[in-house]
Amino acid sequence: MNDSAAVGAQQLRELIGADSLLTEAADIAPFLVDERRLYRGRAFAVALPRDAEQVARLVGWCNQHRIGVVPQGGNTGYCGGATPDESGRQLLLSLRRLNRIRTVDADNFSVTAEAGCVLASVQQAADAVERFFPLSLGSEGSCQIGGNLSTNAGGLNVVRYGMARDLVLGIEAVLPDGQLLQGLKSLRKDNTGYDLKSLLVGAEGTLGVITAATLKLWPKMRSSATAFVALATPEDALRLLGLLKAQAGERLSSFELLPRIAIELTTRHISGVTDPLGEVYPWYILCELTSAADEPLSELLQHTLAEAAERSLLLDAGIATSERVRSAFWRLRETVPEAQRHAGSSLKHDISVPVAALPQFIHEASLWVRTHVSDGVLVCYGHAGDGNLHFNINCIDRERSQAFLAQEPVIRRAIHDLVAKFAGSISAEHGIGRLKREELQRYGSPVALGAMRAIKQALDPNGIMNPGKLL
Ligand SMILES: Cc1cc2nc3c(=O)[nH]c(=O)nc-3n(C[C@H](O)[C@H](O)[C@H](O)COP(=O)(O)OP(=O)(O)OC[C@H]3O[C@@H](n4cnc5c(N)ncnc54)[C@H](O)[C@@H]3O)c2cc1C
Repeated sequence: MNDSAAVGAQQLRELIGADSLLTEAADIAPFLVDERRLYRGRAFAVALPRDAEQVARLVGWCNQHRIGVVPQGGNTGYCGGATPDESGRQLLLSLRRLNRIRTVDADNFSVTAEAGCVLASVQQAADAVERFFPLSLGSEGSCQIGGNLSTNAGGLNVVRYGMARDLVLGIEAVLPDGQLLQGLKSLRKDNTGYDLKSLLVGAEGTLGVITAATLKLWPKMRSSATAFVALATPEDALRLLGLLKAQAGERLSSFELLPRIAIELTTRHISGVTDPLGEVYPWYILCELTSAADEPLSELLQHTLAEAAERSLLLDAGIATSERVRSAFWRLRETVPEAQRHAGSSLKHDISVPVAALPQFIHEASLWVRTHVSDGVLVCYGHAGDGNLHFNINCIDRERSQAFLAQEPVIRRAIHDLVAKFAGSISAEHGIGRLKREELQRYGSPVALGAMRAIKQALDPNGIMNPGKLL
């Protein structure tokens, strides 16, 4: 650490206490690498504040000294947003100690949680008072609510409850000048000017640090039915989605698409995962109905799938007959990213297109991959009910990994150009971070980007909040 960094660290210790600042290389190293191991940054210190006031003091000091602040939650993000740059001049601000559930108000159907609460702990706090918090991601055991809001996370229940932004009633945040914005309202209706909470959600730490949020709850779910369905084509998946929405309405909470290769990868690489249907089929849907009432949802699902079979929309289906079978279905779905990792290098694209355009997009994009990426295999899966695909390509030969990865710019351009042709998005749920900054410049609307820069300049004129991310 150089002299000025040492002086800075000493001043920060005085602000938040010596036990809340890490400066030893070995202590800070785990904070400096992102989930996908794409980036390895440096930081002169890692701050571990205990409350919002300490966050405010830290950010105010950084603003005064023009020091970049990188907020970090569970560090499970896929776009390098929580990793500092390589300068060694930035402060990494970990929210992990702000991990209290402040209140759970069952009557108001709301929970107020600090930013560093792990997502699963918010779900559990709701469950304890017979309520349900619907945000659910494969990383829910380690991602934090502040990170979920900052990335506007999606996940497995968006088809019914919307994205993280749709679940927020109020936000408490430290603005770039160190002021604490007390916005923890728990109102369902509040038309009093600009919606600042929505601005902070999805800002990826570039407009301030979220310290707590008040979130919507639903009644606890009492019934559910889950099916693993085999299909011939993505067109059939779209028709099945329409049928399920028409027959089950609001009860449809998940609709996930999986290609055959996802079954092969998970059964090969993840212990305990088995093929739910036994036979080989080209495509699968994992769908779930849930209800707060005591309802015979298995019958409803069975009836709907029987109708789908009559219309020749499906090839086979299994309905979970126990919680064990249901968990096995979901384990298969949730371990696809891990299985892909075991299978070797991959190129990932988190994209969305209008739901109705999904089959055509899959056909055109798959054709492009087959024609142009001879050393790759397509693993295209995801939240089909939301038009969101993880359009990933795995290298088929470990020996050729380097050459495969070298094609990344060409492959990314082709896929994102196709996404643009379909009026889609180059980031459906993972955000922009550092990874997709240039892509946002290329595909974003110049007017929208201009407005974003103006907002950033107005709130953070010194550019201290998560520099080099998003914009
Ligand atoms: C196995 C697995 C499955 C996943 N599945 C999904 C999925 O289905 N849907 C989905 O959307 N994502 C998914 N993700 C990605 C990731 O979990 C989400 O993006 C998650 O919301 C990130 O939360 P985090 O706490 O880890 O944030 P981090 O990675 O720590 O940070 C993400 C961004 O938010 C900023 N940030 C973090 N906390 C704050 C704060 N308090 N205030 C201001 N800025 C902050 C950071 O600076 C960074 O820019 C998955 C990841 C994994 C590993």
